Amino acid sequence: MKKRALVTGGAGFLGSHLCDRLLSEEYDVICMDNFFTGSKENIVHLLGNPYFELVRHDVTFPYFCEVDEIYNLACPASPVHYQFDPVQTTKTSVHGAINMLGLAKRLEARIMQASTSEVYGDPEQHPQKESYWGKVNPIGIRSCYDEGKRCAETLFFDYHREYNLDIKVVRIFNTYGPRMNPDDGRVVSNFIVQALRGQDITIYGDGSQTRSFCYCEDLIEGFRRLMQTEEGFTGPVNIGNPGEFTMLELAEKIITLTGSSSKITHKPLPSDDPKQRRPDITLAQEKLNGWEPTIDLEEGLGRTIEYFRSVI
Ligand code: NAD
Ligand code: UDP
Repeated sequence: MKKRALVTGGAGFLGSHLCDRLLSEEYDVICMDNFFTGSKENIVHLLGNPYFELVRHDVTFPYFCEVDEIYNLACPASPVHYQFDPVQTTKTSVHGAINMLGLAKRLEARIMQASTSEVYGDPEQHPQKESYWGKVNPIGIRSCYDEGKRCAETLFFDYHREYNLDIKVVRIFNTYGPRMNPDDGRVVSNFIVQALRGQDITIYGDGSQTRSFCYCEDLIEGFRRLMQTEEGFTGPVNIGNPGEFTMLELAEKIITLTGSSSKITHKPLPSDDPKQRRPDITLAQEKLNGWEPTIDLEEGLGRTIEYFRSVI
């Protein structure tokens, strides 16, 4: 019999790639989304597949179905979108986690939480290891997302300790690729769209802050390997590409790769914007069968630029 999976946030950027991957592995997939930042365009190619079901539902309300695995990805990931309705963002992470954990408990299903490098906040340790507890502002403009995700992790671990639930927690570092929304507001999509339109490239602050960018395919491979680890391995485990770049370097790369005549302009740095971020992926390498990223920034940006050329 086919294995059945529920993907919350399945019509989003990462969720849609995960649905593709699960279907290619002969899963029966339920994709649940409220279409806040996701889009039907991301999954329209799957709608004719009898093993794919699309459900419009908000994860903050209970949902019942019969599946073997749950991947909880529902949550806006771009600062612009998660700050649009911060109360709903916290609810999505916290009530969403409670609802999905309750479902997993009833079904005795394995459940994965899409957590984030944001749990490390503006980190004082570099690169970030899973053992680092982070430096997060609890009352700032990023807190709805950071603290919501931290609370979701807490809930996952309490369900594991209290009910012996089979949990997997992945801390995702900045991931990019085709199907990011052109208006998403995140740095890779913003810079590519601006470069392709010949608009100024907007660097927030002086551009010396760093991020590490993982191509979506590498991340999804990490998700699948994590979901297949032995029961008892819960994570949290970092998944990301340790290559670290300043936003100025990223802008210059994108200008070169697109052949754009765009100029760089500077805008104010939003508050609490982390100064540096790079995953320590030793644990992923050890526990996920030597997992490591295979697609470097140039190649991944090239593929992403092709995608944006076709949609804008
Ligand atoms: P995305 O915004 O494209 O996808 C999120 C999806 O969740 C969207 O389809 C959205 O409509 C849906 N959603 C939001 N609120 C919902 C709700 N209340 N009920 C049901 N669906 C809801 O973002 P993404 O980059 O694909 O991120 C997916 C997950 O991975 C998120 O949980 C995010 O926090 C996490 N993550 C992503 C990154 C990254 O760099 N892409 C980094 C860290 C963590
Ligand atoms: N950023 C930028 N210009 C933009 C969008 C973002 O310089 O048009 C910066 C942002 O201030 C941050 C980094 O790029 O330092 C990554 O931002 P993003 O919103 O992609 O993700 P974050 O890692 O901050 O959640």
